[in-house]
Amino acid sequence: MTAAERARLAVIGAGPAGLAAALAAAGRGVRVTLIDSAPRAGGQFYRQSAAGLRARRPRVPHHGWRTWERLSRALADQVEAGTITHLTDHHVWLVERQERQERQERQERVERVEVFEGSGAAAHPSTSAGGFVVHALTGPFQEEPGTVRADAVLLATGGYEKVLPFPGWTLPGVIAAGGAQAMLKGSLVVPGRTAVVAGTGPLLLPVATGLAAAGVEVAALVESADPRAFLRHAGALAAQPGKVAEGAGYAARLLRHRIRLRTRHTVVEAHGEDRLVAVTVAALDPDGRVRPGSERRIPCDTLAVGHGMLPHTDLADSLGCRVEGLRVPVDEEQRTDVPGVWAAGETTGVGGAALSLAEGHIAGHSIAARLHGTEPDPREWSAATGSRTRLRAFSAALDTVYAPPARWTERVTDDTVVCRCEEVTAGSVRAAVDELGAGDVRTVKLLTRAGMGWCQGRMCEPAVAGLAGCEQVPVRRLLARPVPLGVLAGTEATTDG
Ligand SMILES: Cc1cc2nc3c(=O)[nH]c(=O)nc-3n(C[C@H](O)[C@H](O)[C@H](O)COP(=O)(O)OP(=O)(O)OC[C@H]3O[C@@H](n4cnc5c(N)ncnc54)[C@H](O)[C@@H]3O)c2cc1C
Repeated sequence: MTAAERARLAVIGAGPAGLAAALAAAGRGVRVTLIDSAPRAGGQFYRQSAAGLRARRPRVPHHGWRTWERLSRALADQVEAGTITHLTDHHVWLVERQERQERQERQERVERVEVFEGSGAAAHPSTSAGGFVVHALTGPFQEEPGTVRADAVLLATGGYEKVLPFPGWTLPGVIAAGGAQAMLKGSLVVPGRTAVVAGTGPLLLPVATGLAAAGVEVAALVESADPRAFLRHAGALAAQPGKVAEGAGYAARLLRHRIRLRTRHTVVEAHGEDRLVAVTVAALDPDGRVRPGSERRIPCDTLAVGHGMLPHTDLADSLGCRVEGLRVPVDEEQRTDVPGVWAAGETTGVGGAALSLAEGHIAGHSIAARLHGTEPDPREWSAATGSRTRLRAFSAALDTVYAPPARWTERVTDDTVVCRCEEVTAGSVRAAVDELGAGDVRTVKLLTRAGMGWCQGRMCEPAVAGLAGCEQVPVRRLLARPVPLGVLAGTEATTDG
């Protein structure tokens, strides 16, 4: 895959953020390589079905189809013109800064971090002298190595779903809510006949209504939060009439499909021997305790469950970018604190597709100006800046309304498996804390092996942290995904070539 010509900009992730950035930069004379692990562009929100399925009505499971048509047409034009190279099925496992640049930057670093934390963009060094090497795995078994060299990098790798454990959550038939959506959009299949959609967060709405529209009987949408809490955020709501209309649209679809909405409820157990046959849901009191006597069993063969989203930060972390809380902080131009590295979309904080588009657009403009050695003019993207401000305020309001259900840990029995890769139970995690004195996630991991398996803790980390009573902090992972030893062994030669 080594690009014959060096890409001036490597964009990692072809979702709304990466697409908007690639198009803005390419439109301003930057040669872009757009790299994505999926077979087609679109990311999570505009996930396209496999070309071989030949969907007759591809827009059916989608919202914002017109925007997607505009983006995909523009991408096709730029690819045809040779300004964007689109590498599909490429899984990036590491982005390296080249050594010459690193030496130079090490001297500047302390001063730069201070400037970044204080006033943002002003004295940020522009891009790079040495550039970057993007390492990916490709091929049918994702075992073939490939590299792209670039002067600047945009991280637009999106986010992943958080699912908290409860008794029975490992039964076949229990799937992630976003996973159900991905099946629907990507493979045009439904996960079962009768579903309960549960957890917390706005993603549950498109999942429940999408499943129902595809013919699944959705027995209930079980939301642990109380959406009426939105009323306390009237300002953020008033600034986003489009979002209010979107919410009303979902309410109408819930009614049309006769989906019972149970707010301030939670799933307390999933039942079944070999696979899911029913769930028990219960009402929560204001303190997050189950209201005695409110339990109700709902027969179903599918439980689509999700408790919000977390940003992908591995590549940023391995590049040396600051990670704040669980996201990558950026300045007004979407620059990270590492010169030459920009970030946009859910990598910088979860906020939805429209916010990702605005951030990507801003990043693309900024990158083009900086690569051309000019000072960017923020007036060129003032509309996107306005959208970004309003959408960030809106997503901050969402965060306070849709917090994970309080006291969820109390409902996790000791024999519930928490880390699926290593089959570590909640009882083992509790014993590591109560009997062996573990005080942080890393020590729990060393004592129990929770998080040491294939997913390297990406799935179980929030659960382990919650059960151990520790704060969830970003765990340092050298590589963004597992890599065959043979590829690692050959990496040095490739990098220096
Ligand atoms: C499973 C799932 C389903 C979702 N469904 C919806 C929905 O129906 N409606 C909704 O409003 N929101 C949905 N979301 C939220 C959605 O993520 C955002 O609103 C929006 O898509 C974010 O845009 P983005 O560009 O930041 O990231 P994304 O759209 O997530 O795009 C990121 C892209 O980066 C690629 N990528 C990530 N890591 C690598 C890597 N190491 N190497 C190469 N490529 C990489 C991914 O393949 C992906 O194409 C969903 C999220 C998830 C996780």
